[in-house]
Amino acid sequence: MAEQPLQFDTSALRRDVPEVARFELALLDLDGTLWRGNDVIDGASEFVERLRDAGIRPVFFTNNSSRTPESVVAALHRMGFTASVDEVCTSAQAAADAVSQRVAEPGAIVAYVGGEGLREALRTAGFDARRADGKDIRESWVESAHAAAVGLDPAATYADLALVSRVAYRVGWFALTNPDVRLPVEDGFMPGNGAIGAFVAAASSAEVVVTGKPDPLFVQYALSRYGVPAERAFIVGDNLQTDILAGNQTGIYSVFVRSGISGEPKPGDPRPDLIVDSVANLFRQKG
Ligand SMILES: [Mg+2]
Repeated sequence: MAEQPLQFDTSALRRDVPEVARFELALLDLDGTLWRGNDVIDGASEFVERLRDAGIRPVFFTNNSSRTPESVVAALHRMGFTASVDEVCTSAQAAADAVSQRVAEPGAIVAYVGGEGLREALRTAGFDARRADGKDIRESWVESAHAAAVGLDPAATYADLALVSRVAYRVGWFALTNPDVRLPVEDGFMPGNGAIGAFVAAASSAEVVVTGKPDPLFVQYALSRYGVPAERAFIVGDNLQTDILAGNQTGIYSVFVRSGISGEPKPGDPRPDLIVDSVANLFRQKG
């Protein structure tokens, strides 16, 4: 059933020819790479199966901290992909891991703004995750919180952000699940999580620990979670400034797909190792 050996289609080669057989892990961006809006990219689900057949573990690697791994899997299934919860790696999980590295107390309180994905990741990591509610700002738990975390949260109010900022100021840092300052929408953009993080950073003067692409922490979290060295992983994505930069900064092999948001790389842009029209073209066609 497996079509061995797999080979990258190197017609757009930028770096050395990788032996596909050396890879064990593929970090896959979602929007713009496996689907675009509500439309699956042609050949994307077959691509994921080819990875599996070749013994390369697909990891669905997303900066979206609002969704839980279960809801990412549900979305993948709706789009026709095979996927399991342990194959999903979110920037919220990486944020919870970053908190774990710095806070040893079991059950410590973490004040956060963000969605269900961040709350669940913090709770799974053993923390007492409490959504910052401005009405609580003088409650005693705020003074005993050990950490603060920020994920995209359109419902967050000025008072909620004030609470998170005070905790970040006191402990000296906070986790930010991704640095994207703008989210593209049909008629323009909405401020992204990075914009909320900039607000908290300005108010608190605290260190910002970014856990989403392109920050190396996210790739390192994935490599360590799956027990794979950098030279045995590659990343695939449509965003030069997040997916490809993450590859450049960690030394893992990077594949840029033209199926999403970025135009052709220009001088000065992060440099992909390989460029293909879509994941359907990543591997040399049989025969
Ligand atoms: Mg993308």
